[in-house]
Amino acid sequence: MLIVMDKDATQEMIQEVVAKIEALGYAAQPIPGGERVAIGILRNPRPVDPALFVDMPGVIQAIPVSKPYKLVSREMKREDTVIHLANDVVIGRGFVVMAGPCAIESEEQALTIARLVKAEGAQIFRGGAYKPRTSPYSYQGMGETGLKILDKMRRETGLLIVTEAVDHDSLKQVAEYADIVQIGARNMQNYTLLRHAGKIDKPILLKRGMYATLDEWLMAAEYVMSEGNSQVIMCERGVRAIGGHARNLLDLATIPAVRRESHLPIVVDPSHAAGRRDLVPPLARAAVAAGADGLLIEVHHEPDKALSDGAQSLYPNQFAELMKEIRTLNPGGWH
Ligand code: PEP
Ligand code: MN
Repeated sequence: MLIVMDKDATQEMIQEVVAKIEALGYAAQPIPGGERVAIGILRNPRPVDPALFVDMPGVIQAIPVSKPYKLVSREMKREDTVIHLANDVVIGRGFVVMAGPCAIESEEQALTIARLVKAEGAQIFRGGAYKPRTSPYSYQGMGETGLKILDKMRRETGLLIVTEAVDHDSLKQVAEYADIVQIGARNMQNYTLLRHAGKIDKPILLKRGMYATLDEWLMAAEYVMSEGNSQVIMCERGVRAIGGHARNLLDLATIPAVRRESHLPIVVDPSHAAGRRDLVPPLARAAVAAGADGLLIEVHHEPDKALSDGAQSLYPNQFAELMKEIRTLNPGGWH
């Protein structure tokens, strides 16, 4: 249920509604809008009777929210969420490119790739210090040393950092260094981790789980938001499918679908969807055309020597070419 307040409603009227919601044993979440405040009712096990609220002073409407997710839904918040980061980087308005290697391998590797993606116009550097690998024998990342390298990279290049937290311990560390904390596909339904991510003061890049429906993915975002962190960026990275010609099936329908259901920004990772570099640029262009707010792309200066995901990492010249093509498409007036 969403209680919509009159634009002239006083602070006392809003407080009265909040108090009534809490007296019923539910949680109240005031949502400031452009013109008026709305108050979301959360943690109600059953639908709430609108009659309880419609006659209260300052209330103009009580709208039942039909979806299981509340805070992430457009019903609750009509305007797009725009996330403002350091260095004037904005997600949810215009367009943003996050690029870099799958994993941080050394300071030299990170800085080399950071400089080249920055030269082409990327604003955020990606790279895992903690890697959730399918095999325990694969490269697991550099851990905190990798985070320190990322920090140095940011100081030297001005690029912001998106990097993954794989569990509660790494989340605490990653939150200290990163500008955006990534929750990977394999952890999209790790509800404990999602709750912890909801308590930190950093935006969360939430990858879609490889078998997740749109509703399950939005419910994962709801977990984060329900703990107080409203800065969630959805990231489509493909789902498991038959085929074999690509690592995953990139589901671009989620771009308009997420936009319809939610106010949260959505970016696309064509690299993990493709699994091979020749498929990445066409999928990236398609994501731009379908209205994504940004891209997350793996790039390596020596993909053949990469310790993880080399086959899907673009060569520097391919990345440069792709950036030119994206500019031609001019997403959100990006230049
Ligand atoms: C990644 O971006 O490095 C990654 C592991 O992606 P995903 O969680 O989408 O597999
Ligand atoms: Mn990868």
